[in-house]
Amino acid sequence: MTGQWYSETLYPDFRQTFEVTRVLYDGRSGFQGIVIFENPRFGRVLVLDGVIQTTEGDEFIYHEMLAHVPLIAHGRAETALIVGGGDGGMLRRVLQHDSVRATLVEIDQGVIDLCRQYLPSISEGSFDHPRAKVVIADGAKFVAETDERFDVVIVDSTDPMGPGEVLFTSAFYADCKRCLKDGGILVTQSGVPFLQKSVLANTYSRLKPLFSDVSFFVAPVPTYSGGFMAFGWATDNLEARRTPQPVIEERIEAAGLSTRYYNADIHVAAFGLPNYVRALMA
Ligand code: SAM
Repeated sequence: MTGQWYSETLYPDFRQTFEVTRVLYDGRSGFQGIVIFENPRFGRVLVLDGVIQTTEGDEFIYHEMLAHVPLIAHGRAETALIVGGGDGGMLRRVLQHDSVRATLVEIDQGVIDLCRQYLPSISEGSFDHPRAKVVIADGAKFVAETDERFDVVIVDSTDPMGPGEVLFTSAFYADCKRCLKDGGILVTQSGVPFLQKSVLANTYSRLKPLFSDVSFFVAPVPTYSGGFMAFGWATDNLEARRTPQPVIEERIEAAGLSTRYYNADIHVAAFGLPNYVRALMA
């Protein structure tokens, strides 16, 4: 942090910088550096190892998309596994689906504790929800060892560096597949393809041999700058990605979802990929 400004260090040649009006926390857990500060436009901001993770202002876009797209496309989900997601925003969105029980596996208890303390508006009490189970463990080890099976697996990870690196490997994806019930759907945080080309290309080439349908869906998240954020999609259910808009609309209504970004039109449109993204899937 320099003076009153915080510069993200994700890229060597490109930076976004936030005005800091208050630092709420600046320290280290056993796994990573953690900073939480306040910005006049985005509200409270969570940073791990120099990389912006989420902000009060725009977290709804990322969390709604990565939770509701697979759960609504699945249509009958009863169980979901969230790998990472220590801020609780994904857990909150998964629990909006009354029929779904959620397991969250986060490596760093420190992230959960600090987010509960300083960013309670993101989890909105979901860590204490009766349909939530929280496990403190390495997500890669969890999926390699668990006997549980899930309808949807959501990888809400940091970028492929530090503790999150293992969540982008072929072995991890194969173990996620093993944890899915028949027709289950795996979705992943796959970076901003304009700036993180190799994240998308590697995710695609590692998922492709494992599942019959592998693709991405996109959403613009203002603090993940550089254009669309991409989310990986992998399943053996060939129909799920092509669920028609009226069916999506019905399911959203039946689930009684209250959302600020996600709706049936967005759901269908999000699978339309620009050519520069398709090229990375060659
Ligand atoms: N929305 C965010 C983004 O795209 O920048 C991700 C947010 S969430 C805070 C990411 C979480 O993944 C962090 O809390 C981190 O501790 C957790 N994490 C990283 N590596 C992990 C691992 N191997 N197993 C489980 N959780 C992990």
